[in-house]
Amino acid sequence: MSITTSLAGKTAVITGSTSGIGLGIARELARAGADVVLNSFTDSAEDHALAEAVAAEFGVTARYIRADMSRAEDCRALIGQAGACDILVNNAGIQHVAPVEDFPVAKWDAIIAINLSSAFHTTAAALPKMRAAGWGRVVNIASAHGLTASPFKSAYVSAKHGIVGFSKVVALETAEEPITCNSICPGYVLTPLVEAQIPDQMKTHNMSREDVIKKVMLDRQPSGEFVTVEQIGGTVVFLCSDHAAQITGTAVSVDGGWTAM
Ligand code: NAD
Repeated sequence: MSITTSLAGKTAVITGSTSGIGLGIARELARAGADVVLNSFTDSAEDHALAEAVAAEFGVTARYIRADMSRAEDCRALIGQAGACDILVNNAGIQHVAPVEDFPVAKWDAIIAINLSSAFHTTAAALPKMRAAGWGRVVNIASAHGLTASPFKSAYVSAKHGIVGFSKVVALETAEEPITCNSICPGYVLTPLVEAQIPDQMKTHNMSREDVIKKVMLDRQPSGEFVTVEQIGGTVVFLCSDHAAQITGTAVSVDGGWTAM
């Protein structure tokens, strides 16, 4: 059997992909030849322009489809509107930092919906398409917080542990088919989501921005460096390649050594 990493002819749907890690993943999948569907809940002119820019840069088809990943029907409609869905990357995610007793109920519900339940809905809608196509890859973007915990991130840590477990179940349900399902557990990647946490962390820990970055965020990342979105995208491309056909149900850490400690 010839082993290939070209994803030409495959269609990839990446949730929450107009910025940060999702956009980085979409770009690496497009670089590998996949047609891509970008998603967010905004539907702005910039969102559509982003898809056009990806198409022009990599010579693939790139579309933007609006869907709110906090809503079950939107999650399922996204997969319906995408047409083909050979590769599904569940990436959309939000964060909120507060002690359990002060954690706003609405934030808890939103984090569980966007970071965990959306993957259930999109995967349920995508698996029949993958089975019909005779090939499929589901990659769920979890976190080092899918394997470890930090104070003040109860909803996030719960959702990320949940998605690692969900990935294992999907892997077992598809184990005898040419479909795999894995999660990726990034350490700290400098994206808008991380940038937005810095003011909260400064307040919670009463620290300067520099100290939060060094002593709170990268304190647990032994490499001392942020992970890049290209490194996460490249890991997704690998999991989609034939080399990774027997990798299923696993959580791949890309965390500069965080979870080795
Ligand atoms: P980001 O804020 O840069 O991007 C999040 C994306 O999700 C955006 O495109 C946003 O539009 C989209 N989104 C948010 N709410 C949505 C909704 N209701 N419906 C549809 N789209 C929605 O964040 P990021 O840092 O790139 O994070 C992406 C994923 O990676 C998240 O699941 C996050 O938990 C995970 N992650 C991030 C880091 C990190 O250090 N940045 C580390 C580990 C895991």
